[in-house]
Amino acid sequence: MLETSEDTLDPSDWKAFRLQGHRMLDDMIDYLEHLRDQPVWQPMPEDLRHSFRQTLDDEPSDLETAHELFMKDVLPYALGNVHPGFMGWVHGGGTPVGMLAEMLAGGLNANLGGRDQAPIEIERQVVQWVRELFHFPESAAGLFVTGTSMANLLGVLIARTARLGVDVRQQGLAFGKQQLTAYTSADAHISIVQAMDIAGFGSDALRMIAVDEQRQMDIAALERAVAEDKKAGRTPFFIAATVGSVGVGAIDNLHAIAELCRREHIWFHVDGAYGALAMLAPDLAPRLQGIERADSIAFDFHKWGQVPYDAGFILVRDGELHQNTFASSAAYLKRATCGMAAGSPWPCDFGPDLSRGFRALKTWFTIKVYGAEKLGQVISNTCALAQHMKRRIEAEPRLELLAPVALNIVCFRYRSAEANRVNADLVVALQESGIAAPSTTMLNGQLAIRAAIVNHRTTVSDIDALIDAALALGDRACS
Ligand SMILES: *Cc1c(COP(=O)(O)O)cnc(C)c1O
Repeated sequence: MLETSEDTLDPSDWKAFRLQGHRMLDDMIDYLEHLRDQPVWQPMPEDLRHSFRQTLDDEPSDLETAHELFMKDVLPYALGNVHPGFMGWVHGGGTPVGMLAEMLAGGLNANLGGRDQAPIEIERQVVQWVRELFHFPESAAGLFVTGTSMANLLGVLIARTARLGVDVRQQGLAFGKQQLTAYTSADAHISIVQAMDIAGFGSDALRMIAVDEQRQMDIAALERAVAEDKKAGRTPFFIAATVGSVGVGAIDNLHAIAELCRREHIWFHVDGAYGALAMLAPDLAPRLQGIERADSIAFDFHKWGQVPYDAGFILVRDGELHQNTFASSAAYLKRATCGMAAGSPWPCDFGPDLSRGFRALKTWFTIKVYGAEKLGQVISNTCALAQHMKRRIEAEPRLELLAPVALNIVCFRYRSAEANRVNADLVVALQESGIAAPSTTMLNGQLAIRAAIVNHRTTVSDIDALIDAALALGDRACS
């Protein structure tokens, strides 16, 4: 147990605490400095798993012991997304600077729901940077949320207010006479489906539009679906375009979707979870043209932006509508023109969370210390690495590319008569090898090895290591 001062939770011996704190900091800096010496991932031993089933009345331990347990039993069995060989799903790598910012935020323990405090000015500074990045007007509002899943839900809710008016907040959807319908591509992230479900429209009200051979939403099919719903008396209200699809990294045709939305008075939402930050890279930003026409953009700083988890964001063109969708009155939320209750509107007026952590600080540090240009270069570099991987696959007769490489995601497989089984096993073997960690996806019934290159630490040698290991393991499985 930590020796504490009187009845508080502060240490009685600050000097000893300081030394221990420095050891903890050193351990994490060592960890990040020497990541490459470790496997990407290793399975957690079963007995270790069971050591985390203690009861609440067990003896507390001192801080040194808890730290040792963390180093020995937790740290080696994390998912490994900080590691340069990690290419599974779409996970960010984090940075040493982000780690330190998290410590500062933890010490400050700011609650960013509202009131007059500098931390909220940091969040407002990031909102301003985001507006600038996406060429949105000063009147646009933005908010940190957990992730894009939450940001997509907020987008649906704000679009609902736009269509039905603020009265929907009291009356609910059941009072509405209109049957509202939404649209996204068949390759869209499942969180769009969940958002329609949670918002009360039901996932059946979401049309999953077919994709073309580039795996972009088929615009003709989208227009047909909108026309059919209108003909049947339904009200199309929301289209979610994807910038960087989770399967292959496809970018929907934003101008065409923006045009349709303008013509039909439909809310234009962009799910740019990882892809939207390609705006930071001068060579990629032109591919996102049309994003500046969106009504709302959902994205994550914790993926391509390399900010430690979690740091999702929503940007909304009509800031007033955004506020009207969530703002509430309550005595404890009373505003003032001076004193601590000044500074309205507050972040809590723009989303469902009242108590909110200081996600803005690690984001501010990341942008402040590395600079937007360098962050853009990192993003660009992951796409160049994807092209390198693509070339290696195309040069190798035993491998087959399964999807176009639009950004930083490469889908391929080892050729085999029993390809789905062999490649599923191959991915598990790769993960267990500790050399590289891709994941899988299904493309037209074919199981693909999917490498999403997101981490700023990944280099050409990590790509080559993955391909070489895939070939060796594939040869072994098929010999
Ligand atoms: C990751 C992702 C999401 C979900 O974002 P979270 O931050 O995990 O909630 C949504 N859409 C796409 C395209 C994604 O890649």
